Amino acid sequence: MKDPVLVVGAGPVGLTAALMLARHGTAVRIIDQNDGQTTLSKA
Ligand SMILES: Cc1cc2nc3c(=O)[nH]c(=O)nc-3n(C[C@H](O)[C@H](O)[C@H](O)COP(=O)(O)OP(=O)(O)OC[C@H]3O[C@@H](n4cnc5c(N)ncnc54)[C@H](O)[C@@H]3O)c2cc1C
Repeated sequence: MKDPVLVVGAGPVGLTAALMLARHGTAVRIIDQNDGQTTLSKA
């Protein structure tokens, strides 16, 4: 896949999807409605 991908949501699922896309050479931009890191534990 050569077109860039927009991942909406920087939780575990979004970050994992972005990582896998990047590993396969696809440009990724991640956006999230939150300003920064969560203070909660994530699965
Ligand atoms: C009360 C509670 C306690 C928990 N405690 C633990 C724990 O102690 N340890 C643990 O490992 N797991 C815990 N979990 C589970 C863990 O939080 C989830 O399994 C995990 O976060 C799911 O990941 P996700 O990527 O699917 O969703 P999320 O982590 O919810 O990520 C989704 C992201 O998308 C963003 N988003 C959503 N809609 C939009 C939008 N329209 N535009 C932009 N951004 C958007 C959100 O801001 C969020 O950052 C807990 C869950 C709950 C509800």
